[in-house]
Amino acid sequence: MTATLSIGRFRIHAMNDGHFRLDGGAMFGIVPKSQWASRVHVDEENRIPLALRCFLIEDGDRRILLEGGMGEVLGAAGAKHFALERSGGLEARLAELGVAPGDIDAVVLTHLHWDHMGALVQPDGRGFRPQFPDSELIVPESAWKEALAPSRRAAPSYVRSAVESLRGMSEVTLVADDAKIAPGLSFAWTGGHTHHHVLVRIEDAQETAVFWADLIPTAAHVHPRWVMAYDVDPIRSVEAKEDLVAQSAAAGWWALLYHDPDHAWGRIVQTESGRYGFEAS
Ligand SMILES: [Zn+2]
Repeated sequence: MTATLSIGRFRIHAMNDGHFRLDGGAMFGIVPKSQWASRVHVDEENRIPLALRCFLIEDGDRRILLEGGMGEVLGAAGAKHFALERSGGLEARLAELGVAPGDIDAVVLTHLHWDHMGALVQPDGRGFRPQFPDSELIVPESAWKEALAPSRRAAPSYVRSAVESLRGMSEVTLVADDAKIAPGLSFAWTGGHTHHHVLVRIEDAQETAVFWADLIPTAAHVHPRWVMAYDVDPIRSVEAKEDLVAQSAAAGWWALLYHDPDHAWGRIVQTESGRYGFEAS
């Protein structure tokens, strides 16, 4: 199933590379299970289902792929461990929109964890080759460097050989972590989840959408203190969210969600009690 959101001249399509499962406790950090369990479906192994939702952004005849799914980057054992279900994956979702890999002008990434770039590569027996060899890759330089030299704690979140194989794309453009990507498209540094994690802002005709990546992975993560145990700097995650969630609710930005199993987008709202929540659309 696909759906479309318009932000001014931009047409945004949600495309799910698949679903996988991660430990619920790891996804909610220090928040007790008694508080989060009622908001998500928890399986017998304490795992919760998560989407791998990429977005196709059309700007006239220019096509930009935002984020890169999980694909087969972890092999059969990883797919089994994380209960990955793809039903054709990103390539099939693109085909449903009538888009071939060669039609993608640029791929934009917020960070290079394997669940955000895996469908950009294809195992070729010895290593990996790019799935979008004719496309430009645009990624913050700091995030690229962090992926190639992670801390020991963060290292399992990357597949180094897969990241390096992305050099085989037509062009790798490393930019500042608050760079303008294209007219109306920009990165905004948040840190927290990774030291160089960024959001992507999409703006036109007085409308704004924000792709929150792993700062707000699901609708249950809008609360500024509900941050993942995976984050390398959770205190920074909370600070960034306190600021941005308040701004988002006040300005009525659209929120695009990568990992929410049910909602591609909606809005962050503040209720009468002062708490922040997610209004699905
Ligand atoms: Zn991540």
